Amino acid sequence: MTKREFLKLCGILGLSFPLQSVLSQSDKSEASFSGEVIIIGAGAAGLSAGYLLAQRGIKFRILEASSNFGGRLKRTLEFADFPIPLGAEWLHVGPEVFEEITNGAPVTVKTIGYNADDRYAVWENGALTFDELGDYDDRKFVNSSWFDFFEEYVVPTVAPYIHYHTEVKAIDYSAETVIVETATERFFAEKVLLTVPLKILQAGDISFTPALPQAKVKAIQDATVWGGIKVFLEFSKKFYPSFTEFVIEPESAGQVAYYDAAYGQETNKHILGLFAVGVPAEAYTSLTGDALRDYILEELDMIFAQQASPHYVKHLVQNWSQEPFIRGAYISDYEDWKRVRKLSESVADKLYFAGEAYTSGEDWGGVHAAAEAAREAVEELSG
Ligand SMILES: Cc1cc2nc3c(=O)[nH]c(=O)nc-3n(C[C@H](O)[C@H](O)[C@H](O)COP(=O)(O)OP(=O)(O)OC[C@H]3O[C@@H](n4cnc5c(N)ncnc54)[C@H](O)[C@@H]3O)c2cc1C
Repeated sequence: MTKREFLKLCGILGLSFPLQSVLSQSDKSEASFSGEVIIIGAGAAGLSAGYLLAQRGIKFRILEASSNFGGRLKRTLEFADFPIPLGAEWLHVGPEVFEEITNGAPVTVKTIGYNADDRYAVWENGALTFDELGDYDDRKFVNSSWFDFFEEYVVPTVAPYIHYHTEVKAIDYSAETVIVETATERFFAEKVLLTVPLKILQAGDISFTPALPQAKVKAIQDATVWGGIKVFLEFSKKFYPSFTEFVIEPESAGQVAYYDAAYGQETNKHILGLFAVGVPAEAYTSLTGDALRDYILEELDMIFAQQASPHYVKHLVQNWSQEPFIRGAYISDYEDWKRVRKLSESVADKLYFAGEAYTSGEDWGGVHAAAEAAREAVEELSG
């Protein structure tokens, strides 16, 4: 069953998303494990795991290859008068997830849902058809973002333990103490939690001694990680609906949509977002600079009766396929849940995996799923 089928089934059966039920399980704050943990990666999963380990009094450090925390939560305050989320943008579950991530610590973050009568368009075979959005559960942050939430509520607890510019290249778990190596340093711990993007493991950027079990290696190599890109364009006039989705055949190849990125924000700016993942994203990820801008404006002029180019002000590109320590968007929505579960399985009681691609198989791909996987890994490793 794919993620989409699973979530659809939950809807049909009137069940809530699995996350809520799992996250509300009791928190074991008394840990039996008393060693040290190395977390690799300071994205949603790594930060969440550090936060929970700190609460349990377990020693940890986070090794992060880049110069900042957040990974695919990245956002910018430079483009508009509200935060522009360059990766994760929507809240795919209810706002109660915030306090589930903070383990009950109070959170004030404003989000907004969509209206059933918001305009929604479909672009298919050169024609645009309009409809109403109808039931749509995703929410947008208002003058905030997933990054801002983590920065305010999670990072203060873990910031002293993050080592930046620390790209892990090798892990030796053959002895009782695990050795984690970068090009210049060695770190030692009893347990290691990997939260690096799956593309990093697929590329073999981290070597393992001994090699990972064959079934794990197969799951890593067989999983599909979508490439992806987001582009934000400012226009002097709003000529587009809340969403314009492209019909993609087959559906499992990926997704392309233009959307009103300023929806619900306290702003007068007209910012249109392009979200593209999977095979159809390659039309955009293969271009750069003026060529990419011109391609998008031409496409928008075609869809919206020549209204884009005359009102274009500026644009901003985030190509996730080219980020050196990310290399893609996220694991396919259509991945097999059993493979996702296999990806999350621990190895030899020393290596643990958590992140958007390493979950229990009930949900994946999103920030909430990465945070939930981190909680499960922390529960497992701390005994
Ligand atoms: C275009 C796009 C749109 C998205 N939209 C949404 C959305 O609307 N809602 C939603 O919930 N989710 C969305 N997501 C998915 C969401 O961003 C991810 O699920 C989540 O941020 C992943 O968190 P993570 O901790 O698993 O991985 P990451 O955020 O990738 O963190 C992994 C970290 O590991 C670091 N790293 C890599 N290699 C090494 C190494 N060798 N050594 C040390 N560190 C290393 C990386 O630098 C990174 O900081 C979107 C993603 C993309 C790309």
